Amino acid sequence: MATITVRGQTFSTAHLIDGQRVDDAESTFPSHNPCHWGAAPLGAVPRGDAKVATLAVDAAVRAFPGWAAMSPAERREPMHRLAALIDASLDRIAAVEASDMAMRFESLKMRVIPRAARNFRVYADMAVAYEERVWHSNTTANRVLRMPAGPAVIITPWNAPFMLSSWKVAPALAAGNTVILKPAEWSPLSACLLAEMIVEAGFPPGVFNIVHGLGHEVGDALVTDPRVRRLSFTGSPATARKIGAAGAKNIVPFTAELGGKAPLIVFDDADIDMAAKKAAGQYDDSGQSCMANTRLLVHQSVRDEFLAHFYAYTAAHVLGDAFDDATTITPLIHGDHLDRVLGFVDRAIKSGDKLLLGGKRHREGQLWIEPTLIEPQSNESEIVQNEVFGPVLSIQTFADEAEAVALANSTRYGLSAVLYTSSAARAERVGRLVRAGTVWVNCYLIRDLTAPFGGTGISGLGREGGDFALDFHSDLKTLQILEDSVS
Ligand code: NAD
Repeated sequence: MATITVRGQTFSTAHLIDGQRVDDAESTFPSHNPCHWGAAPLGAVPRGDAKVATLAVDAAVRAFPGWAAMSPAERREPMHRLAALIDASLDRIAAVEASDMAMRFESLKMRVIPRAARNFRVYADMAVAYEERVWHSNTTANRVLRMPAGPAVIITPWNAPFMLSSWKVAPALAAGNTVILKPAEWSPLSACLLAEMIVEAGFPPGVFNIVHGLGHEVGDALVTDPRVRRLSFTGSPATARKIGAAGAKNIVPFTAELGGKAPLIVFDDADIDMAAKKAAGQYDDSGQSCMANTRLLVHQSVRDEFLAHFYAYTAAHVLGDAFDDATTITPLIHGDHLDRVLGFVDRAIKSGDKLLLGGKRHREGQLWIEPTLIEPQSNESEIVQNEVFGPVLSIQTFADEAEAVALANSTRYGLSAVLYTSSAARAERVGRLVRAGTVWVNCYLIRDLTAPFGGTGISGLGREGGDFALDFHSDLKTLQILEDSVS
């Protein structure tokens, strides 16, 4: 069986199907370390195909009746054991993920991976605490039951893959669905550790399966299988359209967490230093976050003051290795992605947008791009309208609240937004008017797992978080019993 050794840890890269590690791959794909681009790959991962997809769906279909028949309290047990195993392996998971995804090790270990454990605990507990809605009308008692829906396919992106997967898998399992997870091909390795932990946590075979491979191969075979009853996706709008079409063909509910082009709006009554610090923080991890606030919208009267603070904070960034504590900006994930990001910068400059900062590769042959700031010539510029997913921000000014809101709402995206203001009335007013699934005021990325999360426009479909995710993974059933007809 294929194994891989990363920072002294050796583990299997095989798929997990029906509780077994399966590795009869005729072909593989390489996993790279973005911090050492051009070096030998970290290793090879099996490249699943339609046959592997069918095996995984077979297993999830077989396991479904048993898992669905268990009570939420019974299902909670292996989920809590998995959470404990994750907590006990923070170093290990963070080291592997920092190696193939190049997010900062410390941040993964202290902040990101612990959230994965919390996701499994919180959703398992939430399903136990679910209170059926019951009401009486005329002669019947009405109850709303949450019925497990069936096997769910979960397709995830390459950024923060362990945590983002857990966020989607946990509600599916807690609701009584069986799961097939397909991690992204640019950062598949932490899912190999997850596979080990699923076995150790004692999930019944086939309840939680993981298959590796490319999106248009094994991914497509999974999402088009008519036995799958839920499709849950995080990634780009382009892929969402394909998966949504598969869902439409089979009449399968589909949820999509997609890209963003979030505004960071700075009013003239704001704490300018705090806002500038947060804006410069959008370069962390090379801006590879769907919620990165890439459009800086600043009141015209505070532009110069804001930029002075912003430049100072940006100058303090350290471009470096994911394992170096001093690093704030890790590289882009892949050479293809670097070319894509540089293409945006190049086209912006050629079209007449003004480059205020950066715009260049930091070191020849490697995947860092200097923190880049662009002043677009028009709000229609590509750099304003499309997601770059890199360390590239744009800055625009506005004259009043109405213009700030109009600019904020002028793209097709609508995942999140951040406002900086000291006025409660303005926070309430603008917070309501900005079109986004989440609006943070004077704060950022603070998330209560029970609150809904998702996007409007091309940023997504449906909501995750709390009851919203559990409802998505359930077939809600109304049970009506004629009163006094049974005893
Ligand atoms: P992507 O859409 O290219 O790939 C995502 C996943 O889809 C991968 O696992 C890929 O293998 C799979 N896939 C591709 N084609 C497929 C097909 N035809 N059928 C089934 N699966 C297929 O996205 P990416 O480049 O991995 O991730 C970056 C994108 O994800 C950005 O747009 C980012 O904003 C978004 N994202 C959104 C959130 C959120 O919560 N809203 C979080 C993280 C990332």
